[in-house]
Amino acid sequence: MPFWRRRPEEPRPEEPVDSPPPADPALPASVESPTPGSHDPRTPDAAADPEPSPLEPTTPASGFAAPVAAMPDAVESEAPSYAPFDPTAFLAAAPAHTLDQGLERTRTGFITQLREFLGGDDPRWDDVEETLIAGDVGAALAIDLVDRARRRREPGGAEEAVRAELSALLVPRDLDWAPRLATEGGPAVLLIVGVNGTGKTTTIGKLAALYVGQGRSIILAAADTFRAAAIDQLRIWADRAGVQMVAHAPGADPGAVVYDALDAAIARGADMVIADTAGRLHTKSNLMDELTKVRRIVDKRLPGAQPETLFVLDATTGQNGLAQAKAFHDAVGLTGIVLTKLDSTAKGGIVFAIEGALKIPVRFVGVGEGINDLLVFDPEAFVEALFA
Ligand code: GDP
Repeated sequence: MPFWRRRPEEPRPEEPVDSPPPADPALPASVESPTPGSHDPRTPDAAADPEPSPLEPTTPASGFAAPVAAMPDAVESEAPSYAPFDPTAFLAAAPAHTLDQGLERTRTGFITQLREFLGGDDPRWDDVEETLIAGDVGAALAIDLVDRARRRREPGGAEEAVRAELSALLVPRDLDWAPRLATEGGPAVLLIVGVNGTGKTTTIGKLAALYVGQGRSIILAAADTFRAAAIDQLRIWADRAGVQMVAHAPGADPGAVVYDALDAAIARGADMVIADTAGRLHTKSNLMDELTKVRRIVDKRLPGAQPETLFVLDATTGQNGLAQAKAFHDAVGLTGIVLTKLDSTAKGGIVFAIEGALKIPVRFVGVGEGINDLLVFDPEAFVEALFA
């Protein structure tokens, strides 16, 4: 059952909520509402300032991202009539970058070079191979790909052959994918895993905003309890997206945080729990044990929940990132990838490497630091934009 089926008692996205949700005695004490007074970019101080601001969200030009700009006010209702300038809100209201913009470095970097070597009557296949390797496609895959492209004898030419072989590496997917609801109408569960610094927290904030924008109610679980800063950071993103968060004290059992978040979601009838997890290096086996334990907790509290486990991969880490993904996949079984910082690399070939190697779909790509800079990954459109 898709997770977006709406419960009858929920307000429709376009209907404003008139008052804050009542305190729910069934909720664990650790549930935090968005910080009072925090500036919600969806309810800007437009009334006080009729002039359109250049900081206001804009609809992305590309058709890739669901525009988050028109997010309904699902959680917080009473916006302050005036709020002092808040840099957090400035970032949150940053316009979304398009896929074209996010891929600019890659397109003008290794793809441009690739096309040079593929052009003309006599393609320079050795250089093509090296360029693919330099673009993070990976050595074995690049050799194989060039071999197949050469044998293909594509009527459209060498560039067309390479393009077709690259496309073939991307796994087929349903573009309308959404996290699955647990059986018995429980919330969908998203576990966000990956190494620290790859963009996990930012991605959680972006995902929360994306789903809130679609009218879903979201609860975040601050299950990276190893770093106090991780909890604080997640709280900032919860405020930006206007969603609730469940947190315990630093050092607490991550499984208990997830358990409480699921309890809160069930009590509230929330649509989705998005859990942050600790991200120390993938070589630390206790981290993997802990993730496995969190998975078990979800199964226990929500039998049959089938949580999505999304691995956050920093596109700038190249083949090293691929090794990380493999380790996490072996340990916890990934169901999807979020490729962050695509805007910061000229080597977007990692997309092909990861899907080719793991056969797991990249679900989203991060193309900037703003809350709206998360795009649903569409393989066809991606290859199109690369070779545009
Ligand atoms: P975490 O330690 O994995 O939770 O990583 P953070 O979410 O704190 O992100 C680390 C840094 O990466 C921050 O400076 C983010 O702003 C930045 N970042 C995250 N995603 C993106 C992205 O898609 N593009 C760019 N350019 N920066 C990003």
